[in-house]
Amino acid sequence: MSQATIAIRNIRAEQGHVSRGFLDIGETAAGPIQVPVIIVNGKSDGPVLCFTSGVHATEYAPIEAVMRLMSELTPGALNGAVIAVPVVNMAMFTNRCGFVSPIDGLNLNKIAPGGDGSISEILVRVLLDEVIAKAQYHVDLHAGDFGEMLLPFAGYSLTGHAEMDREGEALTRLFTPALISLAREGDTLPPFPGSIVHAATRRGIVAILAESGGNGTLEEAHVRVHVDGLRNIMRYLKMIEGDPVVGGPQIRATDRAITRAKRAGLLRLNVKIGDAVAAGQAVGEICDVFGQTVETVRVARAGIAGLVWSHKAVSSGDPVVRCWYTEPAGPFPTTDNFTRC
Ligand SMILES: [Zn+2]
Repeated sequence: MSQATIAIRNIRAEQGHVSRGFLDIGETAAGPIQVPVIIVNGKSDGPVLCFTSGVHATEYAPIEAVMRLMSELTPGALNGAVIAVPVVNMAMFTNRCGFVSPIDGLNLNKIAPGGDGSISEILVRVLLDEVIAKAQYHVDLHAGDFGEMLLPFAGYSLTGHAEMDREGEALTRLFTPALISLAREGDTLPPFPGSIVHAATRRGIVAILAESGGNGTLEEAHVRVHVDGLRNIMRYLKMIEGDPVVGGPQIRATDRAITRAKRAGLLRLNVKIGDAVAAGQAVGEICDVFGQTVETVRVARAGIAGLVWSHKAVSSGDPVVRCWYTEPAGPFPTTDNFTRC
């Protein structure tokens, strides 16, 4: 696809140029609410790919990855264009707020496609209508949020359109170190309706969810998963030099479930993300304030620990571990559009 000039309001990048600027979304009494946008428009034609991070703006590994990748990309070495929003929710970023906007209490990734309601709904609408809409491919980068330690994975919401779904699965396979989640409508698997990538796929954009990192940390190993995954996708789309590499055997989620505390007190965890857990395995012990053990927390089914909460004090109903149930993902999907698979 040709992209002679890419313009998002007054942020314009001619072919072979880079542009940076802010989109105005609205204002608070303290000043404007803005979204930072970077456009790197390559010298040669090719796909338009969009990266968004900081939808949850205390998920720092993906934010760092997008900032790093965009500062390294040059128009001379790029076919097509990349549009990036390194921090979608600047209010969360500034205030170090996890999960929801400090302005209206909404979770941006549960209200897509947004609308004309409060500021988060406007923000999601502008992001989808004016930024992501310029692209054929989109990656929304996330991590576990505060208190969440997360096993990396990539997810795509199946549309029923065979060609799109093959590309969507291909992008998840190119991003993930091992685990993919391909969701059907009404599924227990992400991405869910209300998420930005789910809304984007319903508009014909091949959009995936990419997850690595968590718990408010900025660890190089987690950043690398994002950077390597995005570069792999760009190689596959022939936007940059080099061949994509798909690592070892991949696994596909079939279901997932949370194991919760029944009793309250101090939680002594005995599980880490990525651990294979057996049915009935003890993953934690809860003791009351007198130090007496009141519960041994056990998982019901054999699976892989995909999210471990870092909280040490629990109440009845608090989550302890979320396990994935998986099957081998099989061979890499063939596509009509790509030749390097
Ligand atoms: Zn997130």
